Amino acid sequence: MPIHIFHIETYDAEAISHAVEEMFSDFRIPVKGKNVVLKVNLLRKAAPDQAVTTHPAVVEAVASYFTKRGARVTIADSPGGPSHLGQLMSSYRTSGMEKAAKNSGASLNRSLRSKIVTLSNSATLREFPVLHVFTEADILINVAKLKTHGMMTYTGAVKNLFGVIAGLAKASHHFRLQEPLPFAQHLVELAEYVDADYHIIDGIVAMEGNGPGGGDPRACGVLLGSQNPHSLDKVACEIAGIPFKKVPTLLIAEKMNLLKDSEFIGELRPLARPFTLPDSLSVTFLPSWIPAALRQALLSRLRPLPAFHHNICIGCGKCADICPAEVISIVNSKAHHTVKGCISCFCCAEVCPVKAIGAHRPLLSQLFEPKSK
Ligand code: SF4
Ligand code: SF4
Repeated sequence: MPIHIFHIETYDAEAISHAVEEMFSDFRIPVKGKNVVLKVNLLRKAAPDQAVTTHPAVVEAVASYFTKRGARVTIADSPGGPSHLGQLMSSYRTSGMEKAAKNSGASLNRSLRSKIVTLSNSATLREFPVLHVFTEADILINVAKLKTHGMMTYTGAVKNLFGVIAGLAKASHHFRLQEPLPFAQHLVELAEYVDADYHIIDGIVAMEGNGPGGGDPRACGVLLGSQNPHSLDKVACEIAGIPFKKVPTLLIAEKMNLLKDSEFIGELRPLARPFTLPDSLSVTFLPSWIPAALRQALLSRLRPLPAFHHNICIGCGKCADICPAEVISIVNSKAHHTVKGCISCFCCAEVCPVKAIGAHRPLLSQLFEPKSK
């Protein structure tokens, strides 16, 4: 199972198409007449240059690869927040997916129907709704974006698959799995259940800082592909300089023996300056001298909290709509947050269209987890 690493500085259609052809040179599944679904990252309505969503040039190249070989291709995601068709179509247009579909002969998924699936061996959540478009795919291709993530430190192949879950059900998963490690366990179990046939990470222009919705674009010049999402995420983190021990999904994948030694096709070159990490990272590990009885209480006091910047807030209400703990209200066209009950999931910051939500970390947490630059 090789990992392909392509160094591509800009979204040049020819270079990306060439890379995609090479990635799929070891793809043995017949595609003619098949229903191929591309799971893209469409976190929220955002233009491609904001680096919030998978770049349409990558999506177009992957879609074209399959349509040229006689497959029916659908581009799909279940964005954060409550979804309705008008909102989804508007996100497709702004993110460039509409044009990518038109140019490649692919379709855009318009159905928000879902089906309850069961993960009987799950150690976290056993039943949840998955969008039909994903359960009905003959071939599923995960086309993710390399970004930092306020709760999970990093998002790439594994975290992108959380988007197969229907609409607001995603927020309820945050509510039920409030700590980073159980949530990461759920993400890893979900990725294994979804079992996508191939994973691509768009890191040509990635996102650092307060990702996945409010960070800064960062030119990385890499496009990555593999059949193993865990090993692929490990490589993406090595390139971005994101420490392994700060990425809960990698720690869980290692524990579950899902990280495999892989041959590299292309050179793994870490960036000269590592990514700036989110302000909102939780402390997940405490020194062993702290008694077990104290750990949970201490961890909950070390949690970062969202900080709302009223001078930037436009009162759109998207944060209140998604908040699983229902602790945000809109008063006088500004978002207000009640600390009591907040679970520090930072779903609110992910969907804020104007970066009006930052993070406040308790001073004590800096002792255990100093902010990385
Ligand atoms: S206020 Fe933000 S961080 Fe707190 S529970 Fe709601 S969405 Fe999560
Ligand atoms: S904080 Fe952001 S998402 Fe919430 S109401 Fe203000 S602008 Fe909208």
